[in-house]
Amino acid sequence: MTLRDRLVWKENKANMFSVKTAYQVALRLHHPQTGKHSQARLDQKMWKRIWSINVPPKVRTFIWRACSNILPTKTNLFQRKMRVNPTCSMCGQHVETTEHILWECPLARNVWALVRGRIQKTSSLVSSFFLLTRQMMERLSGKEFELWAMIAWALWNARNHVVGQDAWLAWNLLYSSSASITFPKMFCTCTRR
Ligand SMILES: [Zn+2]
Repeated sequence: MTLRDRLVWKENKANMFSVKTAYQVALRLHHPQTGKHSQARLDQKMWKRIWSINVPPKVRTFIWRACSNILPTKTNLFQRKMRVNPTCSMCGQHVETTEHILWECPLARNVWALVRGRIQKTSSLVSSFFLLTRQMMERLSGKEFELWAMIAWALWNARNHVVGQDAWLAWNLLYSSSASITFPKMFCTCTRR
């Protein structure tokens, strides 16, 4: 008889993934020394809000991964000793971090510039995607924050198309839909999958 490898969630006794233990992992990632600090409690509220926003589950999971800085950006892969050039796949000018690809990259800025409202009042430079998300939660209404999460998710997908296919098709699609502010169309595409 042969034994096959299988993925196991080692954060609880049942070895089963749960949202509760996912919070705890996320808190540990951001506050390894001060898990019970008041700041951590503040952040815990943020994690809870992320898991409760009215977007498809895969978008919630994406925002959680982005805030936890565990997306396979080139910088993260490089830091894990993989042989990749950490330069941004889209602009080729900066290091590709989560906050760069989803917010600071000139191409991402062009997409965000098409979104009206309070998003425009946020600095184009941020120290982390986690802090950017917290700012957005504080400033935006529930619906605006959901739209923001959907657009961030669409940006990451466009980036993945470019990395995977080495083509600008994905960005052209994104621009053509964002030019007329038809982000709900992206939402529909997402929810159908
Ligand atoms: Zn860039």
